[in-house]
Amino acid sequence: MTEHYQHRARKRFGQNFLHDAGVIDRILRSIHAKPEDRLLEIGPGQGALTQGLLGSGAQLDVVELDKDLIPILNQQFAGKSNFNLHQGDALKFDFNSLGAAPNSLRVVGNLPYNISTPLIFHLLHNASLIRDMHFMLQKEVVERMAAGPGGGDWGRLSIMVQYHCRVEHLFNVGPGAFNPPPKVDSAIVRLVPHSVLPHPAKDHKLLERVVREAFNQRRKTLRNTLKLLLSNAEIEAAGVDGSLRPEQLDLAAFVRLADKLSEQAPPTPGAD
Ligand code: SAM
Repeated sequence: MTEHYQHRARKRFGQNFLHDAGVIDRILRSIHAKPEDRLLEIGPGQGALTQGLLGSGAQLDVVELDKDLIPILNQQFAGKSNFNLHQGDALKFDFNSLGAAPNSLRVVGNLPYNISTPLIFHLLHNASLIRDMHFMLQKEVVERMAAGPGGGDWGRLSIMVQYHCRVEHLFNVGPGAFNPPPKVDSAIVRLVPHSVLPHPAKDHKLLERVVREAFNQRRKTLRNTLKLLLSNAEIEAAGVDGSLRPEQLDLAAFVRLADKLSEQAPPTPGAD
């Protein structure tokens, strides 16, 4: 006799399971997986998207943190030769362990909203492995990713995502598509890593640092927020007006500031 596993959604794992067949179908059509694809699903849950992804014939690895969901996933999918289950934390997952060719991995997931930003940063650090990403996220997060300079949505997330990827806000999904319904609206985003970075920084860690520092106090002028990193003369030499606020700068200007920072001599070890 087949065993039936019961599972109650857990808040601490950000569990909101998709149950709307129309929404699931629209997501799968946006991904449009082919048999030759190499897919990675983050947080398969009870398999709402997994089923259709496997149906494409593509090779699918999934990473699920909740141990209680493992038997449910195995019961449904363990017999499929294109299915490979990893129990663990996607934030610590070594994407290189999959042995995927550069630029081949297609990452998908209805992401747990509590870890979506750190997870996207973790994935961006592996952007050279990735062909594209399709995620369900809080709508507000997708709006920040897709924003342009000049408004309140433009910030660290927009800049670092757009440094690595082209961003497409595909469509919105209301709370009723999930069980239990989340308190916020959601949206599907497509991220496609650039084959050639449009604004390459000499050191992308310095770009992260400049952007983090600049937006720590987004109401202040750049010469104020960046004073521990760059003098006003250095800011001006990078072609940036130090009296502007960070949200007024585009990606190219942040890259020029990071490159200016990279020209500084590293501190001499032992010097005070
Ligand atoms: N994909 C399913 C769906 O659409 O119905 C589930 C989506 S639910 C929003 C998020 C899933 O991610 C849950 O199954 C949760 O247990 C899992 N999860 C949460 N934190 C995780 C982590 N750090 N690593 C991997 N999976 C995680």
